[in-house]
Amino acid sequence: MPPWRDASSLSAASAVVGVMGMPVAHSLSPLLHNTAFEQLGLHWVSVRFEVDVDAAGAALGGVRALGLAGVSVTMPLKQVVAELVDDVLDPADRLGAVNCVVRRGSRLVGANTDGEGFLTSLARGARFEPRGRPCMVIGAGGAARAVALALARAGASEVVVVNRSPGHAEASAALAGERGRVGSPEDAPAMALVVNATPAGMAHAKDAPARPPVDAALLHEGQVAVDLVYEPVVTPWLAEARAQGATGLGGLGMLVHQAAAQLVLWTGREPPVGVMWRAAQEALRGASGARAPRS
Ligand code: NAP
Repeated sequence: MPPWRDASSLSAASAVVGVMGMPVAHSLSPLLHNTAFEQLGLHWVSVRFEVDVDAAGAALGGVRALGLAGVSVTMPLKQVVAELVDDVLDPADRLGAVNCVVRRGSRLVGANTDGEGFLTSLARGARFEPRGRPCMVIGAGGAARAVALALARAGASEVVVVNRSPGHAEASAALAGERGRVGSPEDAPAMALVVNATPAGMAHAKDAPARPPVDAALLHEGQVAVDLVYEPVVTPWLAEARAQGATGLGGLGMLVHQAAAQLVLWTGREPPVGVMWRAAQEALRGASGARAPRS
C-alpha cells in the first residue's frame, strides 16, 4: 500500500485532519492517519501544519472556522492547546496536555491518547500487566507524565520517578498519588518495569545524551524495559537491557497505538493497527539522516 493517499481518492467533500506542532516536517502522524484512512476506505486526509506556540490560538480558530475534523497536537503545543480548547477530557485535564483535538460542532474537545497508547503497546508488545507491580519511569516530561499516570491508573503498586530535575520528578510522581515517589537508579533492580521517557539515544536529537540516567547494567532477566524513543527502533540502552536478559520494547508501538486512539476519537472506526504498524516500520527503515520525527 502506498504510504500516502493518492490524490485521486480525495474529493471536495474529503474530511481534513492534521498534525500541528513545530517542527512537524518529519512527523510520522500523517503517514499513520492516511494509511488508516486508505485502509478503511474513508475520504479523509491528514496533513502537516507547522504552528508555533504564539500561533496556537489562531490555528485552533482555523480548525473551528474551516471545519476540520480535528488535529493531532505535538511539541511544543500540548500544554497551550489544553488551555485553549473548549472542553478537556480525562486524562488530558489531569496532565494539562492535549495530543488530540476533536471538533464537535462548534466546540473543540481536547484529549490525550499517550497513556492509552503506552498501555496498549505494553500489553501487546511485552504482555505486561502493571497491576500490583513496581514500575519506574525515567524522565518527567510530557510523555513521562502520561506514562506515570497511566501506570498508576492501571494499578501499579509503585510508580518510581527518576529524573534530572527534582522539581519535575516530584510533580510527575504526584500524578500517581500515594503510590508515586521520587527514586534513584539504585531502585531499578527491584522494579518489574523500567521505562525510558527521556530523549536519550534518540537519533538526530540535539543535546540528547547517548543513554538515560539509569544504567542498563542494573537491569536483569524477568524485568521489562521500554524505551519510548522509536528512532532508532532499538536504542543502545534497549539493546543493553536485552543483553542483561530483560524483555525489551521500543517506542514504535506506543506511537502507533496513540495515533490509533486518535483515529477512534475522530472517526469512531476500528483502526487498522497492523497496516499502520507496517507503514511506520517501513518509513523508519527508509529514514534518511535528515529525519527528526515527532509523534
Ligand atoms: P520532554 O517533555 O521535553 O521531556 C524530556 C524529559 O527528559 C525531561 O524529564 C528531561 O528532564 C529529560 N531529559 C532531557 N534531556 C536530558 C538529559 N540530557 N539528561 C537527563 N534527562 C534529560 O519530552 P517528551 O515529549 O516527554 O519526550 C521524551 C521522549 O519520548 C522523546 O524521545 C520522544 O520522542 C519520546 N516520545 C515517544 C512517544 C511514542 O509514541 N513512542 C510519544 C511521546 C514522546 P528535565 O525534567 O530535567 O528537563
